[in-house]
Amino acid sequence: MQLAKRFFAMNVLTVLVSVAITVLAVLIFVAAYTTLFSTEMVTNEMKKMFEVRSGLSEIKREVLTLEFEQLLVTQYQEELSSRVRALGAHAIILKNRDVLFATKTLNDIDIERSLMLSDNTSDFETLDINGDTFMYTRADYPLRSGETGTLLMLAPIKFNTGFYLVLGIFTVGIFILTFLIMNFWVSYRFSKGIITPVSRLKDAAIRISEGDLNWGIAEDGEGEVRELSRTLELMRIKLKESVYLQQKYDENRKFLVSSISHDLKTPVTSIIGYIKGITDGVATTPEKMEEYLETASSKAVMVNSMIDDLLLYSKLDLNQIPYHLEKTDLEGYFEDCVYDHRYEYEQAHIKLALTRELKNKVFVFIDRERFKRVIQNILDNAKKYMEKTEGQVDILLRETRNSAIIEIRDNGKGIPEDDLPHIFEKFYRVDPSRKSANGSGLGLAIAKQIVEGHEGKIWVQSAVEEGTRIMISLKKY
Ligand code: ADP
Repeated sequence: MQLAKRFFAMNVLTVLVSVAITVLAVLIFVAAYTTLFSTEMVTNEMKKMFEVRSGLSEIKREVLTLEFEQLLVTQYQEELSSRVRALGAHAIILKNRDVLFATKTLNDIDIERSLMLSDNTSDFETLDINGDTFMYTRADYPLRSGETGTLLMLAPIKFNTGFYLVLGIFTVGIFILTFLIMNFWVSYRFSKGIITPVSRLKDAAIRISEGDLNWGIAEDGEGEVRELSRTLELMRIKLKESVYLQQKYDENRKFLVSSISHDLKTPVTSIIGYIKGITDGVATTPEKMEEYLETASSKAVMVNSMIDDLLLYSKLDLNQIPYHLEKTDLEGYFEDCVYDHRYEYEQAHIKLALTRELKNKVFVFIDRERFKRVIQNILDNAKKYMEKTEGQVDILLRETRNSAIIEIRDNGKGIPEDDLPHIFEKFYRVDPSRKSANGSGLGLAIAKQIVEGHEGKIWVQSAVEEGTRIMISLKKY
């Protein structure tokens, strides 16, 4: 949910929950109060009401035995006054609408209202005067003069104001309390979901701006804050990748420059030497001249292939070459490989054989062209470092449950144990001074790059004078 909506919803929830809890609390309070106090409260009030009613009824009965004129006697009025006061009530004696005697002062409108609302027949009903409720009884005297004399007695009915006061305070108190608790909870949720993650994001942004890209940003917070942390983390990863790539570019550039100056300098110097020999007239005979030119040409070819290797390695290292993976029948592919290398192996008097130890047809996902480069580099090495008259190279195809294993085994001069862990490193050569076996020292490094680009593995086993086994494992399709 968006933050604005969430904010609104939380506020509405705060009010609604506060109201709901208050209503519930009030209901419980009223229920508890009435259960605990009602019996006593009701009986007390009833008793009092009954006393007042019977007192007033008695006075009324007595009064009706008297003449109206008797009511006007001061002595009687004093007695009446003290009797009604004892009941907490009031007495008003009227002739028509004129007040002749009253224990409670009422204005004309109240008198008019009281006379209108009360009548002789419906005794002890209630009427409201100035917001107070009174129980009434009246006695009317038809006078000879045609006028009416009236004795009106009013007894106030008092509600249990203490209870209502407590209830009011309780209601307001509970509402304020729940509102405050809800507000606190909402603030806590907001601070947990927004303010804390935002301050963490701020720290992360400061670190990123200072160049520290190793500090991961956890996906935290709510709504847009969570999205922001995710975006910032993606930005950090991208930035880290680009910095890493930039470093690798720089490294590669340095590596190319240094390797060109070291490894290419020797053949280029000898090319210059041979050409200079021809131009300076050192090669005096046509045979010598041809020999010089051939040597210079073969060195130039070597330089060219070294440059090719360098560029390929550099591109592979920077992941610049996409792989076009195709489902490939392993056996068919290696039959073609053997066929392709047959001629040069015949020329070198080395036997090349393919041995299949596969139960079924095995398929692998490979970039056929690029993988050829792997096999070519390994077969070239097997040929280059053979140094035996009975040369034999075998390609063995095997399989495990999930992998296809390709082994290229030769009976050549082998690799000393100390050199084995390094032969897949770039520019590593067991014997760099050797002139006969030319190479850039990149052949196996390139092979490793390509195999790993296929999510495969390449490793070596070798024993000096016995031979070398290069193994490759690829995931089966
Ligand atoms: P190079 O261009 O020197 O052949 P590689 O990366 O192809 O470079 O091989 C690295 C080194 O490993 C070689 O210089 C060589 O000494 C050794 N090597 C590789 N394959 C074989 C092999 N089949 N027999 C003996 N030594 C090998």
